[in-house]
Amino acid sequence: MCFRIRQLTWMLLALCGVTARGACEDKAVTLTDHRMGDVISLVANVQDGMDITLTVEASLQNMTSSRPLPCTFDLSGQHTVEILKLWPGNPNAAWRYSYRYFWRYGGRHGRLDPAVVYELPYAPQEWHRLAQGNFGRFSHGPGSQNEHAFDFSMPVGTDVRATRAGTVTGVRADSTSGGADPVFKECANYVIIRHSDGTYAEYLHLSTGGVLVRVGERVKTGQVIARSGNTGYSSGPHLHFCVFRALDGKTRETLPVRFRLKDGAVDSLTEGQTY
Ligand SMILES: [Zn+2]
Repeated sequence: MCFRIRQLTWMLLALCGVTARGACEDKAVTLTDHRMGDVISLVANVQDGMDITLTVEASLQNMTSSRPLPCTFDLSGQHTVEILKLWPGNPNAAWRYSYRYFWRYGGRHGRLDPAVVYELPYAPQEWHRLAQGNFGRFSHGPGSQNEHAFDFSMPVGTDVRATRAGTVTGVRADSTSGGADPVFKECANYVIIRHSDGTYAEYLHLSTGGVLVRVGERVKTGQVIARSGNTGYSSGPHLHFCVFRALDGKTRETLPVRFRLKDGAVDSLTEGQTY
């Protein structure tokens, strides 16, 4: 009888392992639970060895965890990794568990090198309007996790160039949907690049199939890495660019950066101006 209760409980709760992601889900990481006897193993599967920060929360009844929960994990370049184990405190009594997980691109340990000047993310002979800048009201406001971010208007298919050298740690190119509604937040195609100071650059809203680099690839400043698009939460064709580090699986900190302009000046860019 006791076994039956435990078995049923386990089956029900196994179905409850939920992600925080919605309809246009980006499956860069999934978390699955596996049972071996009375021990439950939680395993993270990371797509293409991306850099991911993962936070796991759990509700446990008569169960012990190998790590205190909630817990945040740095998954860097790994594909499949066991992140923790759960087991019954008293195997003869009923036990149950459920868990939720949250993740963000990139790692937590970067510190912005303030001496670095970034190149504009397009060809030097092109001019593009900064439709939204730092703390822009459409989607870069306080609490948006995009406070220090730049939206350059540009036609779909424009060459996107690396603003700074680094290593590609995340890509997505399979999304076909987008629009000016937060429901599309998970639908953007992107390239994520890790810099030498451990911070990350995000190039967002790329066109379907418009990613020209692979995870693990080293890119140089000015290298064409993608074609711009209009996927994700976007009111029109543009490139969203920002530099950030993850704080945990739910939050990130965007970081203030400056660009080199065509006349050699260094500037943090003003919304509405063309550069
Ligand atoms: Zn933006």
